[in-house]
Amino acid sequence: MALIVQKYGGTSVGSPERIKNVARRVASWQAKGHRVVVVVSAMSGETNRLIALAKEMQTNPDSREMDVIASTGEQVTIGLLSMALMGIGVKARSYTGGQVRVLTDSAFTKARIVSIDEGNIMRDLDNGYVVVVAGFQGVDGAGNITTLGRGGSDTSAVAIAAALKADECQIYTDVDGVYTTDPRIVPEARRLESITFEEMMEMASLGSKVLQIRSVEFAGKYKVKLRVLSSLEELGQEGQGTLITFEDDIMMEQPTISGIAFNRDEAKLTVLGVPDRPGIAYQILGPVAEANIDVDMIIQNIGHDGMTDFSFTVPRGEFARATAILDQVKGHIGARQIAGDNKIAKVSVVGVGMRSHVGIASKMFRTLAEEGINIQMISTSEIKISVVIDEKYLELAVRVLHKAFDLDQAPA
Ligand code: ADP
Ligand code: ASP
Ligand code: MG
Repeated sequence: MALIVQKYGGTSVGSPERIKNVARRVASWQAKGHRVVVVVSAMSGETNRLIALAKEMQTNPDSREMDVIASTGEQVTIGLLSMALMGIGVKARSYTGGQVRVLTDSAFTKARIVSIDEGNIMRDLDNGYVVVVAGFQGVDGAGNITTLGRGGSDTSAVAIAAALKADECQIYTDVDGVYTTDPRIVPEARRLESITFEEMMEMASLGSKVLQIRSVEFAGKYKVKLRVLSSLEELGQEGQGTLITFEDDIMMEQPTISGIAFNRDEAKLTVLGVPDRPGIAYQILGPVAEANIDVDMIIQNIGHDGMTDFSFTVPRGEFARATAILDQVKGHIGARQIAGDNKIAKVSVVGVGMRSHVGIASKMFRTLAEEGINIQMISTSEIKISVVIDEKYLELAVRVLHKAFDLDQAPA
């Protein structure tokens, strides 16, 4: 008998019929003798609808009230799923994040989990209940409702699994595992039997939204066995999904590249003609950091006649704010011009096998060159190479790289 935490995402609970399917799947796990905690998201589209509603009241919604509103989506789903379970004879009880006591910090709309009180859940499990918990939400020390950022139900599930020392955390979604790249963009993408935590962290942080990055961080830190599976497969015919593993567990030879991630949510800013002197990077990026804007890639070009150009990327939603900040600092740093481009995209190849193979970068650059795709920025780490390109070439770039690195072929 195992203790299992299952998480069902928005599409998986997108209609009453789908919620009933989830109930049947949960019941089948319980019938096999397992203890089951279920974490659910809001029904698909609901969180977007709630955010849009809030924006009709305030163009820049108050973040505390935003969380009061956004957290309601999940509250509806826990009640519905509990009823569906009762409807098929399964004892079930729902909890909001606050009722469990998922304690978070007070960073509204992007709160971090501090601790989880497992008392209520354990007691109910001991009494034969399926416990249904609202994902994406918690409560801060002062009792305010908080939310964990988009996709945060994944993190709720993993954190609850860690707190309960669950045997496995199963993330049920609308694809049957983690693929070599987003199967919606590349139909030839293949499901991976397994992927290492390190690779999954890179994939998630570089734009593969199948798992929220913090959920992967948490799972790695607390050694939670994490699996991604489909909720849309017939009961009894489910595949194995994708297991997120520690590198040592994988005995096979690693492929050089495991996957391709991409992100459209970035914009590039360039400060042209700045004096090439010590402290200039700080003078440009200091005010951006003070405004709480995350900077991703940064490049400073080689100087010419004492002048240089400086470029960096920010989340696309912060483009206007970052541009306004640079317009302000332009004068006192002596820059000639500020240029911006919010139609860029970042494409990344990820793989732990990169450590022991040379020539990955040149193969990536050659493949893009052959398609006439210009690379605007490059950044690398031990297990990934990212490039910034014009957004209009994104899908083409992902497709040709997927083929060039043989990701459409089953590993030998
Ligand atoms: P949920 O609502 O269940 O949390 P999400 O929409 O957040 O689901 O995540 C699942 C989606 O992630 C898939 O439908 C797929 O389009 C997308 N995705 C992006 N990259 C990948 C990948 N490498 N493997 C699988 N799915 C991916
Ligand atoms: N409902 C939230 C969102 O749409 C959380 C989640 O689905 O994971 O972002
Ligand atoms: Mg998600």
